[in-house]
Amino acid sequence: MNLVQSPARACFGLAEATIDLAAVKANVRHYRRQVRSGTEIMAVVKANGFGHGAVQIARAAVEAGATWLGVARADEALELRAAGLTVPILAWLYDATELMWLSDVDVSVATVAELQQVVSAPGVHHVHLKLDTGLHRGGSTPDQWIELTRAAAHYEALGAVKVRGLWSHLSHGDELDATHSRRQLELLRAGVTLARRAGLEPSVVHLANSAGALTLDAPDCNLVRIGAGLYGIDELNNGLRPAMRLNTKVAQVRRIRAGEGVSYNHDYVTPTDTTIALVPLGYADGIPRSATNASVLIRGVRMPVRGRIAMDQFLVDTSDIPVEPGEPVVVFGPGDHGEPTAADWARWAGTIPHEIYTGLGSRVPRRYEEATR
Ligand SMILES: *Cc1c(COP(=O)(O)O)cnc(C)c1O
Repeated sequence: MNLVQSPARACFGLAEATIDLAAVKANVRHYRRQVRSGTEIMAVVKANGFGHGAVQIARAAVEAGATWLGVARADEALELRAAGLTVPILAWLYDATELMWLSDVDVSVATVAELQQVVSAPGVHHVHLKLDTGLHRGGSTPDQWIELTRAAAHYEALGAVKVRGLWSHLSHGDELDATHSRRQLELLRAGVTLARRAGLEPSVVHLANSAGALTLDAPDCNLVRIGAGLYGIDELNNGLRPAMRLNTKVAQVRRIRAGEGVSYNHDYVTPTDTTIALVPLGYADGIPRSATNASVLIRGVRMPVRGRIAMDQFLVDTSDIPVEPGEPVVVFGPGDHGEPTAADWARWAGTIPHEIYTGLGSRVPRRYEEATR
């Protein structure tokens, strides 16, 4: 194997996350082909684009046809605007004190009290009224919906607010079985009918996330909110491509005799004489301390992580392979060269790939490329 070639290429410095923007664009196009024609794509780039870099991912997604951006928080929306992104942005978590900064960011509204805060803030805000259809994590309760839509129609008639969207969020969006999702769609449809009756004319209605966009046929909706899928988190094995590779280098190598404990508290004791390589990444960088049976790729070979993962470093058993300091280590990647994937790390740590990606620490520089495929 040629060590200069992907994926076992050396990185600059101790470690580097490489993000393939061509994969992100391919994932966006994949969704554009899969959803009903006329359905718009909102690229969800909250939490620094799931750790990939919000601005770069947003630009790539827009280039590939996304027409909306979605974030959780106000400052995330402002970062995108400051970077020159001009498509509509929806933020669903903000504080009333931040509204003064959000005149060109759509905000979610779930109660009449929130609506009044938006109306009182300077500027005429675009809002998306959120209905709780079953997740029970924010949104208007169904019994307060009529009052909310009537109040919104009232303020809209006064020119104090513009209701651009009606929306909800799936509770079982990552499941192949769309039974729950269909029930939620029915509730949203009823909510849309009531809102129209109150006089609202929303231009977008949206419910589905990445997986839901593939499992739920929703003729009532004309926008899907795609987060995980952008980054290649492929909950339904739909042929999406992971965009991130995490590369580092062997920092140090040493022979250890049989019966020696390695790393904190000697949780692992070497059964035979062996070679141990030091990898300069740890849980402060997002390598989960709870991972068990983890491995990394060195010289095209999967080598097991041994002993406790520390804050800045962990150890790998290279057995009798004469690995040297400076050699490339692939912690995770798309998986097509034998390296583990973020989904593997998630399994080893008892979590989901989302948490692996968003946990990637700020000490790891992100580098962007467009791998031609
Ligand atoms: C994070 C989030 C999404 C994206 O969900 P994925 O499953 O990652 O596609 C969509 N909508 C809301 C409200 C979210 O918080």
